Amino acid sequence: MTIRTASTISLSRPLIGEREKAAVIRVLESGHLAQGEVVAEFERRFAALHGTRYCVATSSGTTALHLALLAQGIGPGDEVITSPFSFIASANAILFCGATPVFADIVPATFNLDPDQTRRAITPRTRAIMPVHLFGQPADLDSFESIAREYGLSMVEDACQAHCARWNGRPVGSFGVGCFSFYPTKNITTAEGGAITTNDDDLADRLRLLRNHGMRRRYYHEILGYNFRLTDVQAAIGLAQIDSLPEWTNVRRANAAEYDCRLTSVVTPWVDRRAEHVYHQYTVRIRRDRGAAIEMLTQRGIGTSIYYPIPIHEQAVYTDRGLTGSFPEAERAAREVLSIPIRPDLTTQERERVIDAVNELV
Ligand SMILES: *Cc1c(COP(=O)(O)O)cnc(C)c1O
Repeated sequence: MTIRTASTISLSRPLIGEREKAAVIRVLESGHLAQGEVVAEFERRFAALHGTRYCVATSSGTTALHLALLAQGIGPGDEVITSPFSFIASANAILFCGATPVFADIVPATFNLDPDQTRRAITPRTRAIMPVHLFGQPADLDSFESIAREYGLSMVEDACQAHCARWNGRPVGSFGVGCFSFYPTKNITTAEGGAITTNDDDLADRLRLLRNHGMRRRYYHEILGYNFRLTDVQAAIGLAQIDSLPEWTNVRRANAAEYDCRLTSVVTPWVDRRAEHVYHQYTVRIRRDRGAAIEMLTQRGIGTSIYYPIPIHEQAVYTDRGLTGSFPEAERAAREVLSIPIRPDLTTQERERVIDAVNELV
């Protein structure tokens, strides 16, 4: 007889079932692999989910952000205000365009870009604001919509972690230009992939041109474009994932509600009453000795991760360009946060193990 030690509960993993496999095989056997009808169908479904007229699928969340800025003519001399507490791609997309990322600090309760700090960062060169719906909770879209209107700025929503999250009952990605990611750890995946949502026909047209070598008619190139296309193979996975998304989101939210009630030793997430959080991550704060907490949880077989250990304004890419500053709340969040497993396929026993282990941290 072997004595089995409990296996590690991983923080996240892609959920790939028979429908995804069958859909991929159908595309592989169709002889049409690159961007085609399956991508178009995926775009229709994804736009419908977010209540927008258009969706333009891209090769990643990063290229979605890049195109969203390029298509609005943002370039050298322009400033875009975003959060220093995000994945690096948010700010990098601004650099890719030759524009200047300007950081504003976060609201400690939500980890999201602070509207008041954003106002203070506006200059005559500001062209756009880019709130990030971090961990799946929408940023304060009432305030960001007012700021955008008041100063004539465009708004790019980095919704890469917030598929189908809502603000005042309205889906993210329908307030500004929405950018989404389908990386394997995200709430739905296409392996790699991304999407942009918009209601603006001209913008959708420019996004499609930029995504495909500036080409409307084959081999006639109107503008400098890129190859940022999604493939039909990837879109087939995405369509199957979209079918599961409502159920997965409900389970993530139910798991979070249970953690909220039962976790006693850590600071659990605060959710704005206007927000419907989709818990891409369930992120707590550990005010003292986070390192020891991680070690103890690891020993107990609980997967954890720090999103993000170094704020963007302290990354070499940014300090080397002089794009740094002091953002105390972002810096404090980077020292205190820890994400614990919330994925929709956690079993009841696994959830109990997570709760017991976290509550032993004291
Ligand atoms: C994942 C992510 C991105 C980038 O998406 P990729 O598909 O990995 O390129 C951008 N911003 C945020 C907040 C993300 O979480």
